[in-house]
Amino acid sequence: MNIALIAHDKKKDDIVNFSIAYQSILEKHKLYATGTTGRLIAEATGMNIHRFLSGPMGGDQQIGSIVAYNRMDLVIFMRDPLTAQPHEPDINALLRLCDVHNIPLATNMATAEVMIKALERGDLDWRLIVNPDEEV
Ligand code: PGA
Repeated sequence: MNIALIAHDKKKDDIVNFSIAYQSILEKHKLYATGTTGRLIAEATGMNIHRFLSGPMGGDQQIGSIVAYNRMDLVIFMRDPLTAQPHEPDINALLRLCDVHNIPLATNMATAEVMIKALERGDLDWRLIVNPDEEV
């Protein structure tokens, strides 16, 4: 599966801890991230992650374009609801595209944990029918 990992600055520690805790599950999949998030996760875990641009520079839009092609299978986006972001339109566009294409999307730690356990159990395997070759 193709999995996107994104975290706003105040959630970076959370996504790093999440990635360490669930590394054994995540490393079985193809991982993608916005620039800084991807660097921090890679440094902490050693996992191979394709990094796009930093979010404010267009990384959310790059991930959104993969979602638009229906090729991203899970998006874990730990967003900060208490801080204004310069790229708010890009964030909204990404969330919207996940809904357009019915992509599993977690926007906080509680849902991210539910999703990763669902992934491990095979509950998201229907994505292999929608996106069989897993290409982005
Ligand atoms: P970043 O982008 O991982 O490059 O910080 C995430 C964001 O802030 O949207």
